Amino acid sequence: MSGPLPWEKDAPLAARWTDLAYDLLVAGELTAVIRVHGEVSVEMISGPCPRCHDRFAHSAPRAGVSDRVGVLAHEHAALPSDWVFVDLWCECTEFHPERPEGRSGCGVGFRVPARIERS
Ligand SMILES: [Zn+2]
Ligand SMILES: [Zn+2]
Repeated sequence: MSGPLPWEKDAPLAARWTDLAYDLLVAGELTAVIRVHGEVSVEMISGPCPRCHDRFAHSAPRAGVSDRVGVLAHEHAALPSDWVFVDLWCECTEFHPERPEGRSGCGVGFRVPARIERS
């Protein structure tokens, strides 16, 4: 690969990004948890992006952890009850040509299963 990857315009939500993210998760390179403290839930996803491989850290509040995502074609299996799917975008801070103003990452979105950690 030569030069920085341009912003993804053709297939930002292609199933392969989710498949690659899942592989990274299984390999232990990507970590995905939902931290629950009382009423507050926070998504915490960190590791390499499945497309650009730049490391990023996603941290965002989540509106409750009981919302289960329906089954899509590229989902791997039903999740146990203490896991939920998180949809997110690459949030790396590396340079990607043609990136729109105000955005971060390389332009791909993907889905990862995250384990719910209650404390
Ligand atoms: Zn990147
Ligand atoms: Zn990326």
